[in-house]
Amino acid sequence: MFRKGVASQIRWLLIYLLVGFTIGQLLGAVWPMLFISTLAYLAWVLFQIHKLEAWVTATRQQGLQENTMRGVWAEIAEDVELITKRYEKDKQRLQEVVERVQDMTSALADGVIIVDKLDNIEWWNRAAERQFDFEPLDIGRKLTDYISHPKFIAYYDSHQYEEPLDLISIKHEGQFLQFHIHPFGDGDSLVIARDITRVAKLERMRKDFIANVSHELRTPLTVLSGYLETLADSAELSPAWGRALDQMQDQTRRMTSLVKDLLMLSRLETQDREQGQTPVHLLPIIEQIVADGKVLSGEKGHIFHIDCPAQIHILGKEGELRSAFANLLYNAVNYTPPGKKISVLADINAHELLVKVKDDGEGIGAKHIPRLTERFYRIDDGRSRDSGGTGLGLAIVKHILLRHDAELRIHSTLGKGSTFSCCFPLERCIQAPQQAPSATG
Ligand code: ADP
Repeated sequence: MFRKGVASQIRWLLIYLLVGFTIGQLLGAVWPMLFISTLAYLAWVLFQIHKLEAWVTATRQQGLQENTMRGVWAEIAEDVELITKRYEKDKQRLQEVVERVQDMTSALADGVIIVDKLDNIEWWNRAAERQFDFEPLDIGRKLTDYISHPKFIAYYDSHQYEEPLDLISIKHEGQFLQFHIHPFGDGDSLVIARDITRVAKLERMRKDFIANVSHELRTPLTVLSGYLETLADSAELSPAWGRALDQMQDQTRRMTSLVKDLLMLSRLETQDREQGQTPVHLLPIIEQIVADGKVLSGEKGHIFHIDCPAQIHILGKEGELRSAFANLLYNAVNYTPPGKKISVLADINAHELLVKVKDDGEGIGAKHIPRLTERFYRIDDGRSRDSGGTGLGLAIVKHILLRHDAELRIHSTLGKGSTFSCCFPLERCIQAPQQAPSATG
């Protein structure tokens, strides 16, 4: 029923009591002797407890100690010994796992940093040590003290980590890093810094190449179109040559707009977006592009409509905003049958400012909509070419809007028409007190 040690303890108690009782009988003082023998037993038990406690303390401080106790105390000490050995084994196994994981992450070429829920650095691997010049004393310091680029701090604080963040390294000149942040556990985060210098250099070479080629093509194209114009004006040409010249002129015009759009795109990709941003008055721009749209529409006789509060200003670059809205309006003119309505509307709601170009044209099939802003994506190649399209218009619009923290949303129903909405965050919208809203037809 009892463990061996407990049974022996009961035996010892009974022996103490029996001895006390016997001596008590001899001395004629049974109860006092029983009391004394109980006290003696208690004193012995207390001494054993003290020995056990001293053994546990020594084991805790210096590792397992020799067990010299007896009876139940020896059994308790054996149990403690067993639990301690098991704990040590588990600890060692876990330590080995942690070391293996650390070895693995150390072997990674990517920098790995573990940050706790207070944003303090807990651990890093060798690559991160090289990237950020960490030293052992940096454990427990704020991560944002090390990666103090305003863009990184904004990204880190946003807690929106679906997209990675690309940055030029502050510590090492010419190095590009891509940050991925993965939250885990109880508010901790794993920050991965990938060295993308090679990819970034290739990307830069690609952009430079496109910009240079486009730039180099400009001069020969200007010369060609100049000669073609002179030739076309010449009266001596036969009608067959006249047709050929018309086609040549069409193609040079197409190439010229292609080069213009390519240059625009590469400028948008390479220029610093923060420079030259001012409050841009929206209504005059819309009125101007609608006037140009009317000229482009010509005999097609589209009906134009503007609905834009006069006080709206957008914080941005005037030229770029004008180009984005113009691209959308010219598309509406090109892809809307004659006589139909085209509207440009501006509207502020609780979350954003919307500038919409709406047409009653042929609409766009749902499967094309997600791909429309890709470069050179066209629904109908022939129609786009006939209308003088380069296939770059919506890509330009998307880039411009990105540079203004805005996005392009496209809603369209086949046979009914399309709405292209430029959605700006409210921080970009300034409403200067002005005249009454304008609505013109
Ligand atoms: P493009 O220079 O060919 O017009 P864009 O990038 O401006 O190139 O537009 C991509 C394609 O999207 C166009 O080829 C056209 O098929 C389609 N598209 C653009 N705007 C409209 C619109 N308002 N209505 C119908 N289709 C449109």
